[in-house]
Amino acid sequence: MIATLGPDELFGEMALSGSPLRSACARAHSDCELLVITHQALSEQLDQSTPLIRHLLKIAVARSRVSLSLLQPDGTAEHRHDEDLDHAPAVERLRVEHRLRDALRDGLLELHYQPLITLSDRRTAGFESLIRWRDDNGRWIPPDAFIGIAEDSGLIVQIGHWIIETAAAAVATMSDTERKPFCTVNLSPRQMDDPQLFATIQRAIQQHALQPGQLRLEITESMMLGNLQATEQLLAQCRALGCPLLVDDFGSGYSSLAYLHRLPVDAIKLDRSFTSALSEDARAVKIVGAIARLAADLDMYTVAEGIETSAQADICQKQGIRYGQGYLFSAALPLAQARLSLSASD
Ligand code: C2E
Ligand code: CA
Ligand code: CA
Repeated sequence: MIATLGPDELFGEMALSGSPLRSACARAHSDCELLVITHQALSEQLDQSTPLIRHLLKIAVARSRVSLSLLQPDGTAEHRHDEDLDHAPAVERLRVEHRLRDALRDGLLELHYQPLITLSDRRTAGFESLIRWRDDNGRWIPPDAFIGIAEDSGLIVQIGHWIIETAAAAVATMSDTERKPFCTVNLSPRQMDDPQLFATIQRAIQQHALQPGQLRLEITESMMLGNLQATEQLLAQCRALGCPLLVDDFGSGYSSLAYLHRLPVDAIKLDRSFTSALSEDARAVKIVGAIARLAADLDMYTVAEGIETSAQADICQKQGIRYGQGYLFSAALPLAQARLSLSASD
């Protein structure tokens, strides 16, 4: 907030769109908050609809309605208050976005690594990288609280490059002549529109002298739904490079099988909801077994995530699932601890 204005106070107002800066004079009808939105921030967002843009558009539309009604002969302008519009969520998201941008710049984002265990010998084979954000007070903000905002604002593209680079560097430090663990990276649908995505992956693999299979990508079914063509292209490029693609949260969508048919991915990660049902539900066990066999027939490997009990791990192993991941084995760890856990599993 840069100023508080009362009724009938005047303030300048910049034009909402277009490159040339224009200004106008406006009069506050009641107390209001002024929020600075830079032109760059606006242009970056204009190509998609975020709550902020929706909010601004609603204001613009409401204003032009007011102006139009002012032109009516009787001059009865109907004033709508901003409270009617979704002001609070828009401003909150904008604040988080600013803080997230700063966090990326100031190195407050971290990647943590959750071990993937080969179920047959219970050794660590690789990791899933999971993003963490430590706020100014040292508390961790969970990814679900900011990934959506990073996606809406387009910031996920920049963060995505950082994730790929960081994960590749991490897995390089965990590798030696004997051990070549892999690390998976989660991709957001928005990153499918990033023309630099594949080049970034390729460069990260080369720079850190990884074997292509050491960096793997997790995509979700919703991603394929959004941009099947881009997903197909990425898949083909990754195939050529030897970098595997996994379908995350498999079975949580509506048409998982249709996508498997269309996209020859390398692995599937069973959604956590199957794993959690395993101990008490005989049908869930059959479904997991059937998916494992289907995957094997299609030359894909399988991962069960969210394993919390040894009974679940044993069932998954018996049903032919290759890797297990979950709190039973370990939560996601900072790099130094992840490396230790790798040597401890020898
Ligand atoms: P996800 O890709 O399905 O990641 C698995 C989530 O399950 C992680 O939550 C992980 O900490 C949690 N988890 C692991 N083991 C267990 C378990 O045994 N029980 C239970 N209940 N949960 C377990 P997290 O780290 O909070 O991430 C949440 C979601 O945020 C991820 O779901 C993913 O969609 C997204 N995300 C996380 N990191 C990234 C990232 O680097 N990039 C992108 N694009 N998305 C990310
Ligand atoms: Ca994942
Ligand atoms: Ca998942």
